Amino acid sequence: MPQHRDPCMFCQEDKPLTYQHVWPAWLRKIFPHPPKSSTNFHQTLSNKPSPKEVSILAKNKIRQGYLLSVKYRKVCAHCNNVWLSGIEESVKPNVEKLILGMSVNLNGEEQRALALWITIVVIMAELTHPENMGIAKDIPNQIYQSNLPLPFARIYLGQYLGSDYSPFRYRHHAGVLMKPHALKQGVIPPTKPNCQTSAFVLGELLVVVDSADEEFYSDFAQTRIGYGSPLVEIHPTPSNLLTWPPSAPIGDAACDLICEGRFLSYYDTEKLTISTS
Ligand SMILES: [Zn+2]
Repeated sequence: MPQHRDPCMFCQEDKPLTYQHVWPAWLRKIFPHPPKSSTNFHQTLSNKPSPKEVSILAKNKIRQGYLLSVKYRKVCAHCNNVWLSGIEESVKPNVEKLILGMSVNLNGEEQRALALWITIVVIMAELTHPENMGIAKDIPNQIYQSNLPLPFARIYLGQYLGSDYSPFRYRHHAGVLMKPHALKQGVIPPTKPNCQTSAFVLGELLVVVDSADEEFYSDFAQTRIGYGSPLVEIHPTPSNLLTWPPSAPIGDAACDLICEGRFLSYYDTEKLTISTS
């Protein structure tokens, strides 16, 4: 099928599309391609209209290939080679230090640049499972226009020092948020997710991004995460100076809790987990 008939997902212009890596190519210098690898896609779809009615469908599919090599043809050459490359290059030195657990201080502007790069990764990574995308379709163009990180979202960093998620892993949960009591009032749940949590580990860097559609964001933001855990917020409220590594690292148990999305109290209809094996 001629995919080039879609406009560029960022600038929305009708230009020929190019392949854009989800994970920047330079990451493969830190995490070399293993001789044989496959990506294990584990999908769980659950539907919980009430605590008594739970239906769960789980399926596993193994895809050949290396997670860090995944790319999609959704972005025009200009967005790919100029705009996105510029974003990636601007954060590369700092991201490398975070991945390797080296000391670094990030000012507010550097944290904002990092949050923009993370936004792009999370948007691209959601293309892995288009039916479960929790970021609204018009958001990539908003990001392109504003050059600002994901709106109606929070982005956190942590220093990961466990082993289960090493050397890298990506997990994604998408769900459906509804107003309180909406179900009891007979409102039919939306058929597409309207919120999502993406978490990924790259070396010692743990990134957590949660977002929701605008109308639900204020309720959503009250389900705060990270209390008692050493996650550091970089968006929407960066600190004046982020000192890395943070005061306490995150181990496997805390990382499980964070990546399982248990901190979110949304009406959860769909979950997708992608891990590497
Ligand atoms: Zn474009």
